Amino acid sequence: MNVADSERAATRLRSAGYELTDSSEGADVLIFNTCSVREKAERKVFQRINHVRRERAGKQPLIGIMGCVAQLEGRAVFDSSPPVRFVIGTGATDRIPELLERVEDGEERVSDLGIRQETEVWDVSPVERHSKHIAFVPVIEGCNKFCTYCIVPYSRGRERSRTAAEIVTEVRHLSDLGYKEVQLIGQNVNSYRPKAVDGLEKFSGATPFSKLLRAVASTGIPRIKFTTSFPRDFHPDIVGAIEENENLCNWIHLPVQTGSNRVLRAMRRGHQIEDYWKHVETIKNARRRISLTSDIIVGFPCETAEDFADTLGLVERCRFDGLYIFKYSERKGTPAARLTDSVSASEKASRFITLERLQTSVQEGIYNSYVGSEVTVLVEGASARASVDMTGHTACNKVVNFRGTSGLVGRLVRVRVTEAKPHSLYGEFLGAM
Ligand code: SF4
Repeated sequence: MNVADSERAATRLRSAGYELTDSSEGADVLIFNTCSVREKAERKVFQRINHVRRERAGKQPLIGIMGCVAQLEGRAVFDSSPPVRFVIGTGATDRIPELLERVEDGEERVSDLGIRQETEVWDVSPVERHSKHIAFVPVIEGCNKFCTYCIVPYSRGRERSRTAAEIVTEVRHLSDLGYKEVQLIGQNVNSYRPKAVDGLEKFSGATPFSKLLRAVASTGIPRIKFTTSFPRDFHPDIVGAIEENENLCNWIHLPVQTGSNRVLRAMRRGHQIEDYWKHVETIKNARRRISLTSDIIVGFPCETAEDFADTLGLVERCRFDGLYIFKYSERKGTPAARLTDSVSASEKASRFITLERLQTSVQEGIYNSYVGSEVTVLVEGASARASVDMTGHTACNKVVNFRGTSGLVGRLVRVRVTEAKPHSLYGEFLGAM
C-alpha cells in the first residue's frame, strides 16, 4: 500500500510540474513516506531526516512526511522533528502539490489530516509505477476490524472501496500498456464493498469481491493476484472464481495470527479456528492447487504454552506454502498495549524459533514436490545472488531463479524445476510463452 501511495504522490507531483529524483542529494524537497505498523519503522524516519540534514552542506531541503506516521502524529511531528515543514495524512496524498505550494509560499508549518475526497481520482501514471510489468491496483483502503494489536484502523481510517468500473478501467488500461500482472491490494481486499455496484451487475458471484475478481478476470490480463484476505470475510466463492478463471492466480494469503481460540478472542479477530480451518479445506480441495500463505504473531500477551502448542498444531495441519512470523511487540495507542505483556522476550524468541523450524520442514516438503515439474514464471529481473540468473514469481507466488538473459524481463516463460531451496525454486529455462 505504501508503494502504491508513493506512486500516486509522484503522479500528482509530476503533473503539478515538479521534477522527480531518486537521490536525496541536491533535491529541493524531500518527502518521506512512512509506516507505523512497527514502532521501529516510526523511529527510523526521524533518524533518516536527521541524517539527511547532517549530510547536506549547502541549502537545506524542504522536508515533509506522508503516510501512517504523519496521520497518527499529526502536528506533533513539528515538535518531535522541527525540520519537518509539512505533514500529509493518509487521506491527503492527492493534495500534496497544494500543500507544498503553501510551504513554498512561506507558510511555516502545513498539515492535512483530512479524508480523501470522493471527487479525487485514483489514477497513477505508468511512468511512476514501480515496475513496467507488474502493477499494484488498490481496490479498498482503510480497515474497520480493530484487531487489538494493530494500529492500521487509526492510521488508515475506515474502509473505502473503489468502484468496480474504475478498477476494471484501470486494469484494461494496464493490459493495453503491456502489463502482465496486476496485484489487487488493500488491508482486506475481500471486505470490498463499493457504495455503488456499477460495473458488477453482469457478473455472477456470492460477494462483491468475488464479482470483482470475475470482472477483473474478464479483462484478459494474464495474471491477477490479490492480497490480503481477512478470514472473517472469506467466502468460498473466491475459490470458485479462481477455479473458473485461469488468469486469477492460484495463491491466497489468509493471515490466521494464532492457532488458539482464546488468543484469537483477545486479539478480537472475530472468528474461530474452526472457521479458519473450513476456509483452508475449501482452498485445499479446489480443482486447481492453490498456494496458501499466512501470518502468525507469537507471544501475544496472555499466550500460554498450551496456546502456542495449538499454533504449532494448526501450522502442521494447514501446511502453509509460506508463513510470515512476527514476535509480538507492543504498539502504543492500541487496546493490546494496555494488557500486561506476559510473555518474556526470551520466551518469544524461543517460540519464534520453534515455529520457524516447523514451518521450514513443512515448506521443504512442499517445495521439493515441485522438482521435475514445469512452472510458468513472470521474469522480473536479474537475481540479486547471481547476475547470470534471472528471477521471477510463479502464479502461486513462488520465487523461481534460472539461467537466462535480461531480454526475458517482463516475459512469461516456462521453467522446469530442478532444485528446491528453503524459500525458492531453481530451474532450467524451457522457452518464452
Ligand atoms: S484486519 Fe486487523 S490486523 Fe489487519 S489491518 Fe485491520 S486491524 Fe490490522
